[in-house]
Amino acid sequence: MISLKPLPTNLNSSFFRSLTPFKLFTPKTQTLKSSKSHSHSAIKSVLQWNRKPELAGETPRVLVITSGKGGVGKTTTTANVGLSLARLGFSVVAIDADVGLRNLDLLLGLENRVNYTLVEVMNGDCRLDQALVRDKRWSNFELLCISKPRSKLPLGFCGKALVWLVEALKTRPEGCPDFIIIDCPAGIDAGFITAITPANEAVLVTTPDITSLRDADRVTGLLECDGIRDIKMVVNRVRTDMIKGEDMMSVLDVQEMLGLALLGVIPEDSEVIRSTNRGYPLVLNKPPTLAGLAFEQAAWRLVEQDTMKAVMVEEEPKKRGFFSLFGG
Ligand code: ADP
Ligand code: MG
Repeated sequence: MISLKPLPTNLNSSFFRSLTPFKLFTPKTQTLKSSKSHSHSAIKSVLQWNRKPELAGETPRVLVITSGKGGVGKTTTTANVGLSLARLGFSVVAIDADVGLRNLDLLLGLENRVNYTLVEVMNGDCRLDQALVRDKRWSNFELLCISKPRSKLPLGFCGKALVWLVEALKTRPEGCPDFIIIDCPAGIDAGFITAITPANEAVLVTTPDITSLRDADRVTGLLECDGIRDIKMVVNRVRTDMIKGEDMMSVLDVQEMLGLALLGVIPEDSEVIRSTNRGYPLVLNKPPTLAGLAFEQAAWRLVEQDTMKAVMVEEEPKKRGFFSLFGG
């Protein structure tokens, strides 16, 4: 039975209290009555998730975590959403498609166990199961790196290799994984094209700043051109104090600009950096941290797709655009 731990210290935390712009995920049966008790009820609903969510759609669900801009939190999202899904009981294969600059293995604390990569599998130097690194904490979570650090993508290695990989994972004797999550490199060049080729859905990670949003908008267009229409958005490194001071775009502004379904809102949290440096994913922290909980909620919404409707913005639509935040 999956259960999420109670969050005694976090219930009144300023992040959740200041999340007035959003309704946190609420199960379909639950209705939130008074606006004052919204965030509290929403947190309570987190505590009531004492069941395994139902997986919607066909398996494996192949999703690419992308952004365009670097350093916005793709790898952090891949590690934490991936492990949250594994904790919910789903089998997950996370693929680090960041060739030459891979770091998903570091975030997961699995760097010493990666002996082979997909390039070696394709060269016939090892079997696929030798390149898949099983997490010791959650045996239904596996990592696969495309190439060795600092190496270049071999000539001729392209999206077809990942399509082959997905097919190979489907027909493994252990059974087909529920989720294949691809950590996409920054930029929109060959590495990006390779990473998105096998995906049928995408999670776009953005921070609430104009450079990241411009890149996210461009990437959304490219994903749609590639036939990926199921695109959801994670807004990372949100600082409610700055939003209140009108120094940062609100999530509503971001939604208005990108027009994508909101999968998660992750606060700026020093615990993220701490857990990155320790190689211990945030969602495994005890007691849970704010950002860790936000990633768990995002994973839950990913599974029960129809409940995406519950992630709505409550804030009154603003008359002015986000440029007004910059005095425009
Ligand atoms: P990308 O894969 O998009 O390049 P990363 O996931 O590697 O980005 O994150 C870049 C840096 O930002 C890392 O040092 C990470 O710890 C930090 N970071 C990501 N999300 C947050 C957050 N919500 N709060 C604080 N730091 C964060
Ligand atoms: Mg990365």
